[in-house]
Amino acid sequence: MITVDEFREHAHQFVDWMANFYQDIESYPVKSQVKPGEILNQLPLSAPEKGESMNIIFDDFKKIILPGMTHWQSPGWMAYFPANSSYPSVLAEMLTATLGAQCMSWETSPAATELEERMMEWLKHAMGLPDNFIGVIQDTASTATLCALLSARERASGFTINQEGFENHKNFRLYCSTETHSSIDKAVRIAGFGQNNLVKIPVNEKLAIIPDKLDDAIRQDIYDGNKPVAVIASIGTTGTMAIDPLKEVSEICQRYDLWLHVDAAFAGSATILPECRWMIDGLENADSYVFNPHKWLFTNFDLSAYYVKDKKTLIRTFAILPEYLKTTVDQRVNNYRDWGIQLGRRFRALKLWFVLRNFGLDGIRERIRKHNQNISELVDRLASSPEIEILAPTYLNMVCFRFNTGNIPEDKLNEINERILQRVNDTGKVFLTHTRINGKFTIRLVSGQTYVEKRHIEQAWELLQQSAKIEMSHG
Ligand SMILES: *Cc1c(COP(=O)(O)O)cnc(C)c1O
Repeated sequence: MITVDEFREHAHQFVDWMANFYQDIESYPVKSQVKPGEILNQLPLSAPEKGESMNIIFDDFKKIILPGMTHWQSPGWMAYFPANSSYPSVLAEMLTATLGAQCMSWETSPAATELEERMMEWLKHAMGLPDNFIGVIQDTASTATLCALLSARERASGFTINQEGFENHKNFRLYCSTETHSSIDKAVRIAGFGQNNLVKIPVNEKLAIIPDKLDDAIRQDIYDGNKPVAVIASIGTTGTMAIDPLKEVSEICQRYDLWLHVDAAFAGSATILPECRWMIDGLENADSYVFNPHKWLFTNFDLSAYYVKDKKTLIRTFAILPEYLKTTVDQRVNNYRDWGIQLGRRFRALKLWFVLRNFGLDGIRERIRKHNQNISELVDRLASSPEIEILAPTYLNMVCFRFNTGNIPEDKLNEINERILQRVNDTGKVFLTHTRINGKFTIRLVSGQTYVEKRHIEQAWELLQQSAKIEMSHG
């Protein structure tokens, strides 16, 4: 084991490495090029009996681990969604790890609790969220959505299911569009509703939920003797960034007294821009809302912001107070262990504090605006290119398209576009992923990396065109 002096020495060495890594990040292939098992086979079958030197361990990190990393922080990262980080966020994480606190209750670190409370207020104001919302940090949107559905379940059952199980409530029903994220399905399963009670409502040509169809499904369920409980609306689906009409959906929820949970995990960061707040028009009528600063707000994974209208319902769903957790201040403070699933909590608020202060809201707005601008400029180009078909409306920082010259048979297009994407990713310079829209293989390009520049988007477009030329000539 190293001494504190050696710790100091290695820490300095690591920080130098970290700074160099960020400086040279474009020289690493964005998508790791290793084969399955390649890393595993380089790792001994069991831990060493005798301690090894930090230098040897660090060398192995560079030799074995690094080639197996896919670089989410590269400006060539245009895949899935961003999970962007930033210098202030990383610096804060160093301090968090150093403090090593477990922030389950106020007493176990008052500063962690109170900074979290203030940060959730800062975020609420910065993002233009309704005044009556109260926030808490969760690890991921998946967890936040599970909290929402458990709260909805308890409210709808008069807080009896926690105690009695589902015995008397077998017919609870939930609704979302066919395009919603898989975390909704997972939460419905875990919360005990059963996948068959999640009703998937059809979408329109913009891939947004059709309110009339939602209303029909709810009425049919009531007619059939089922009990509608909750609707999950998406602001920015992961596949295509589709945006459900929140106002209309919220009116339906009010009419039938349903819990409305809004999943804006990815797109939610954009409401820091006043011009993007139309997306959350109607949010004041929602019961719960989640968005991920760990996706598009320069705060490294994990930090998910979960907001509720009524914290009493949330706490009543989760609070359990065994004797060994009681403290003398419980009546006067927030004990966030009662605001969600886990007991143990990381000190996540610190990195958000660093990010919000160091960028400033203006600095954040400027970057997010640039991300959207990058994509709208690319869309102009794509729209004027005869070989490109845009497959979904573009609202923010993602565009969905495919190569289609018009003279390639439909059944060949999927295969060709898949090969184009593969060829682009094999260059290691950028990494893009796909989705399927009505069966069509769709290339998605996302601009959300903290340090992305226009030239990176241009490079991706160049590579796409080069690859398309080769693949389409192969036919
Ligand atoms: C990414 C995403 C999620 C899941 O987020 P996690 O924080 O990884 O659980 C859920 N919904 C949408 C719309 C997303 O984009």
